[in-house]
Amino acid sequence: MNVDEIVEGIAKGNRRLLAKAITYVENEHPISKEILRRIYARTGRAHVVGITGFPGVGKSTIVSKLTEEFRRRGKSVGIVAVDPSSPFTGGALLGDRLRLEGADVNKNLWLDDRVFFRSMGSRGRLGGIAKKTGEVVKLLDAAGYEIVLVETVGAGQSEVGILEVADTIVVVLMPETGDDIQVNKAGILEIGDIFVINKSDLEGAENVERWIKYMLSLDEETVMELTKLSHADERKLMERLKWKKPVLKTIADRGVGIKELADEIEKHYEVLKTNGILQEKRRERAKLSAIEMAVEEIRAEIMKRYAHLFDGEIDPYALAEKIVREVLECSSHSKQAQ
Ligand code: GDP
Repeated sequence: MNVDEIVEGIAKGNRRLLAKAITYVENEHPISKEILRRIYARTGRAHVVGITGFPGVGKSTIVSKLTEEFRRRGKSVGIVAVDPSSPFTGGALLGDRLRLEGADVNKNLWLDDRVFFRSMGSRGRLGGIAKKTGEVVKLLDAAGYEIVLVETVGAGQSEVGILEVADTIVVVLMPETGDDIQVNKAGILEIGDIFVINKSDLEGAENVERWIKYMLSLDEETVMELTKLSHADERKLMERLKWKKPVLKTIADRGVGIKELADEIEKHYEVLKTNGILQEKRRERAKLSAIEMAVEEIRAEIMKRYAHLFDGEIDPYALAEKIVREVLECSSHSKQAQ
């Protein structure tokens, strides 16, 4: 299978070739990089929405219902389910079906050719999952999916770095007995753009709602404090001043509150677009991924070139200095040669 064929296939929305490209990315096949490089110009059109929360809160159910809602609104939907604990690696169709069937899914979605679903397991390779998720999202984006839903486990300090891929982040919570560990978990107030209290048919939904609203109001005070600081992160600040984070209640398995959630997701995207925040976010992401790719290559080169020095006694400080000096010297030589 050659790169041209795959790249053209993705551009034309060929599902089989898209699936193939995703498998290449997941397996770090040598041609995946070339595919990603070639499709890059076609990316940047999808609205990438992260759906995050603890296992069992109802993420898959919400993803499924949201997909139906966006389809009703005429939008195509790509779905990436990232579950680090999943024993199924990408492409295991049976695995995908099992997982979705457990979560009360409309089977018709499987027959809809403007819906594309893929799950990514990552047993034993957690480190690379954020990067790979980002790459799979790019492929779906290039294939023309207008909304890309990324479902990840664990709110807050998320292993999969949802912040690095999503434009809008929906944090899903549910009523809990006892104390609200979900809300207290560091980071979720910060990363969420929209908060959903699912299973609000169960007792205690109001408590979670009250609690999260209270925590968000404290958060706003912090923002006000921040405005006085000269080194405040302007983009974050602007985003927070322009967008009041909504707290919604849903009963996902009955479809209650899903329309409102889809409305808020669309509204958030409009705010990002009309205030230049989206471009800023994407520029930042492109910068970080350029740095990451460069560092990766340099690391590989160092491993190769200095392999002979890594055996035996090592003074890490002296060795690091030597490597940096030589790498920089080498780059300044090549600059002069240009
Ligand atoms: P995930 O692990 O976060 O993806 O959660 P799932 O979507 O798999 O849902 C876990 C369970 O909760 C499933 O049995 C769902 O049918 C159920 N569930 C989903 N939404 C609701 C809801 O609003 N109320 C109640 N009572 N159960 C729900």
